[in-house]
Amino acid sequence: PTAPLRALDAAHHLHPFSDMKSLNAEGSRVIVRAKGCWLEDSDGNRILDGMAGLWCVNVGHGRPEIAEAVAAQMGELSYYNTFFKTTHPPVIKLAGMLADLAPPAFNHVFFTGSGSESNDTVMRMVRTYWQTLEKPEKTVIIARKNAYHGSTMAGASLGGMAPMHKQGGLPIPGIHHIAQPYWFDEGGDLSPAEFGLKAAQELEAAIDEIGEDKVAAFIAEPVQGAGGVIIPPETYWPEIARICKEREILLVADEVICGFGRLGKWFGSEHFGIEPDLMPIAKGLSSGYLPIGGVMVADRIADVLVNATGDFNHGFTYSGHPVACAAAIANLTILRDEKIVERVADDIGPYLQKKWAALAGHPLVGEARMIGLMGALELVPSSPARRRFAGDAGRAGTICRDFSFRNGLVMRAVRDSMIISPPLVITHAEADELVRLTEKTLDDTHAELTR
Ligand code: PLP
Repeated sequence: PTAPLRALDAAHHLHPFSDMKSLNAEGSRVIVRAKGCWLEDSDGNRILDGMAGLWCVNVGHGRPEIAEAVAAQMGELSYYNTFFKTTHPPVIKLAGMLADLAPPAFNHVFFTGSGSESNDTVMRMVRTYWQTLEKPEKTVIIARKNAYHGSTMAGASLGGMAPMHKQGGLPIPGIHHIAQPYWFDEGGDLSPAEFGLKAAQELEAAIDEIGEDKVAAFIAEPVQGAGGVIIPPETYWPEIARICKEREILLVADEVICGFGRLGKWFGSEHFGIEPDLMPIAKGLSSGYLPIGGVMVADRIADVLVNATGDFNHGFTYSGHPVACAAAIANLTILRDEKIVERVADDIGPYLQKKWAALAGHPLVGEARMIGLMGALELVPSSPARRRFAGDAGRAGTICRDFSFRNGLVMRAVRDSMIISPPLVITHAEADELVRLTEKTLDDTHAELTR
């Protein structure tokens, strides 16, 4: 029964990213099981998981192959570490698989337990790299406003979310934020192409301001996810790549969301033709079945790190956890053998994108955009004008998100942007249902806002 579960949850469980006061008054949603793209709550409601959990359940919920691989590994070697020159078969196999699947320049991976740990690892790797090359003053990392790179002190500092910085006095020193390529909100009268160039050139201006001899790296998601599915104009990434190369700055592509098929390629940077130096990964690596992350390291960087004298004094008890590795291997096998990544590029991606784009005709929608299988709707008072609701930013989004859940669809609200990122195995019929539920949700929200 739901009521006692909610009471126990409210009494003892501190939730991430939740307003605890209102949560305790209203009670949490209790999700009890899931299969494919569908969740079931403790009252027996079926809900379409339009967010693939937290952008991670790429192969869908409840795949028995992963459960069986995990159970078998538990029986064989449930835990051992990878410190002090030790290894084990699942971590060896997974590292080899990742080297096969990643772009040719990437043949090395350092394992972590999450995306946040991966970005902390990036920070230390980048600094170690420049120290090894006897440029220890290169320590500053340039990141972007409104980015999300995790919740540890380093991750939340690399991220550019003002509410996260407010709590705990972040960012930590040595991190500088520049603009995000968010044409809808910040493009003004510029065309998307002009704005993409302008946003990228902020990187060069920041390097000039800080000093090239002090800047170690630039980090960004190929498509900013939690910030609102910010799809960069096509001029953006080539300009960023040019600047990083010319100014001797490492390029870090945070692939935690975009990796493992979300954009119809194994890695999001491949979609944009970027050749990064480091790629933090997590989420779709195991489709969220067990916690695991990592940093993929390009050979030219690994060569420096491997030849540094002394240990890389960094690692986690669960770096390369054998059971998490077994889950990741089973997950990657499904993605590869069922050609799920190709399906996003050639079939279900274009299919849902077309239907999603048509939502721009709704009176509440100022823009409907989607790339691969991640999309956003910009809610506005009078479509098609690029003008936001006056006053309470985020009110329309919250109303829309709540209607969505009541209508049986998980959508996320980022201020007044509605976000989706469904499992990559979503069928055509489920994609139709996702669009139908979105339309109903927009109608309900419009009626409420114009009441
Ligand atoms: N990087 C990106 C781009 C993310 O979206 C996230 C999580 O949403 C993270 C890093 C942090 O990953 P984790 O929650 O596994 O620590």
